[in-house]
Amino acid sequence: MTSDDLLARHRAVLPSWMPLYYAEPLELVAGSGRRVTDAAGRTYLDFFGGVLTTMVGHDIPEIREAVEQQLRTGLVHTSTLYLIRQQVELAEKIARLSGIPDARVFFTNSGTEANEAALLVATNHRRSHQILAVRNSYHGRSYATMGVTGNRGWSASALNPLQVAWLHSGERLRGLLARLDAADRVDAAVEDLREVLATQTAGDVACLIAEPVQGVGGFVHGPDGLFAAWKKVLDEHGILLISDEVQTGWGRTGEHFWGYQAHGVTPDLLTFAKGIGNGFALAGVVGRAEVLESVPAISFSTFGGNPVSTAAGNAVLDYLLDHDLQGNAARVGAILGDGLRAAVAGLDEVAEVRGKGLMLAVEFVHPGTVEPDAALTTRVFEACRAGGLLVGKGGLYGNVIRMGPPLTLTEDEAREGLAIMADAIRASIEA
Ligand code: PMP
Repeated sequence: MTSDDLLARHRAVLPSWMPLYYAEPLELVAGSGRRVTDAAGRTYLDFFGGVLTTMVGHDIPEIREAVEQQLRTGLVHTSTLYLIRQQVELAEKIARLSGIPDARVFFTNSGTEANEAALLVATNHRRSHQILAVRNSYHGRSYATMGVTGNRGWSASALNPLQVAWLHSGERLRGLLARLDAADRVDAAVEDLREVLATQTAGDVACLIAEPVQGVGGFVHGPDGLFAAWKKVLDEHGILLISDEVQTGWGRTGEHFWGYQAHGVTPDLLTFAKGIGNGFALAGVVGRAEVLESVPAISFSTFGGNPVSTAAGNAVLDYLLDHDLQGNAARVGAILGDGLRAAVAGLDEVAEVRGKGLMLAVEFVHPGTVEPDAALTTRVFEACRAGGLLVGKGGLYGNVIRMGPPLTLTEDEAREGLAIMADAIRASIEA
């Protein structure tokens, strides 16, 4: 059966609101290292890894062996009602790495569920369903996490179970705080927070949920130190800080293990997902015992922290620490970032190349303005694929190319992808 047949069947049976990348959607059937192969046998360099999910690369022997060893026991028995050795071991490692004192870890199956759990905990702990969230954010596809997602394009419901007040993100290009220098943007964002608290909330507020670098939002972020400045105000009111590390965790940003560390502050709760399973469903929330254990009833998960996912998680975490993949993200990310900046120098169609480590984005605009050029972005996106490079697309206006390759990306692969990207941008501008 060809991928065309599969596409027709996909369209007939899956909901129409599930988007597919590319004018001719891609069926990937195999992977190795940083490369994937489609059903027609064509190989691509993978600079997106699902969505920053394939953290250590495709078909890594150490990960495969850990999962196969678990499968060979014959036991794919799940439920948090039983002792699961690799779940406990992984929780110990994550608690130690989290930077959160007296940390407890609750495993879930997706980032959505992890944020849902964090919101559940924060609202219970504070006995309030008032939440501060950030414009242009993405936190998941459940009812509550959609409610704190500041991007209507990804909010499938206009209803909201939470009472949400929206903060400016401190980003550089657009919005009220744009074009201020970094220190002024932090001051303005703090003023915004104080004003929102004074004018849009009443009584206790549960938490602020924020991404250190907004993933779906196009890898935009406020100045370093912003979370710490926010937290000072939050602490005056006892409001909890949730750092959504679904995209920024595990050394992705190169400079730190968690995104929040760029801000010189420790959150009360952090959520993780995506890369830690390297493709297996594994996610969770970490928080101080006093906060995480404050839910009024016992909680349970059938699949959260299951033996296969946590076997993968332990192997992924060990691999990434043993191979200093955070260091690799910093080193190869700098090569890729500098190369991208050089490739687009002088192009008025590119507003900015930004990001941290191996989380890099290029934003396209109509020359001389900050007006998004989604059509050009789509041409670049398709041209990359035609050239043999898979990247992501995103941003509030669909005008951002996103790169989040496996953290094992080599210097040669970075240069190879860079050349394809540079050609794609040039050809798409001329088209
Ligand atoms: N938070 C962030 C920052 C994300 O990028 C995503 C997924 N794109 C989620 C939460 C939701 O994760 P999942 O798709 O695993 O539910």
